[in-house]
Amino acid sequence: MIGANRILTKTKHWLQTGVDDMIRLLYPVMCASCKASLYRHEKHICNHCLVSLPASNFHKEPGNPVEKLFWGRSHIEAAAAFLYFNKGNKVQAILHEIKYNHRPEVGYFLGMLYGNELTKSDVFSTCEAIIPVPLHFAKLNRRGYNQSAEFGRGLEKSMKIPMLEKSLIRKKDTETQTKKARFERWENVGSIFQINQPKELENKHILLVDDVITTGATIEACANELLNLPGVRVSVVAIAHTKH
Ligand SMILES: [Zn+2]
Repeated sequence: MIGANRILTKTKHWLQTGVDDMIRLLYPVMCASCKASLYRHEKHICNHCLVSLPASNFHKEPGNPVEKLFWGRSHIEAAAAFLYFNKGNKVQAILHEIKYNHRPEVGYFLGMLYGNELTKSDVFSTCEAIIPVPLHFAKLNRRGYNQSAEFGRGLEKSMKIPMLEKSLIRKKDTETQTKKARFERWENVGSIFQINQPKELENKHILLVDDVITTGATIEACANELLNLPGVRVSVVAIAHTKH
């Protein structure tokens, strides 16, 4: 009987593998970075790209370039970005896949990877709630997902910290503004974001999450709203940091 069960299990496994291979042949899953077809044991990003991702290790470096962006602007406990973003590098390709090629699961995957690192950090491991930078609802409807929230979901899973996705809402669809300078002036006004259910956030150390940090203007506007609440502390992480 045990022998029969083993044969049945093996047959099931063999069939499943065969089906998986067939699906891969018809719809090859590509590496989000180099676009090579992935092997069965690889997920979202091929092993070659994965080991050569330009990690910043900013989470281990107090006073890193992302933290410096907020000096004199917002009182941020700690800030970091997982990867370096430069035009034409692997990270640009990955972010493009996440945002425009309907692959939110890649953002989740990166969140899982980075969350495993952040749990070893004295500061980031004390965060009690994750809040992603929100998209305006019209934009969310168009895209179907918020890439920052997908990254946040990966962090939520690996850091075991709840994500409160509805706590911060975006009142204005500023990204329709083509002139970036104007957009950033708006951001600095700080009236773009609004807090929902503030009681839930009081006295918490919040981890604010974005996809890319460039000038820090968006994060600053979000953080300043949150810092108005009693006892709130804010730390920041993003998938990537790009110099401007
Ligand atoms: Zn690759």
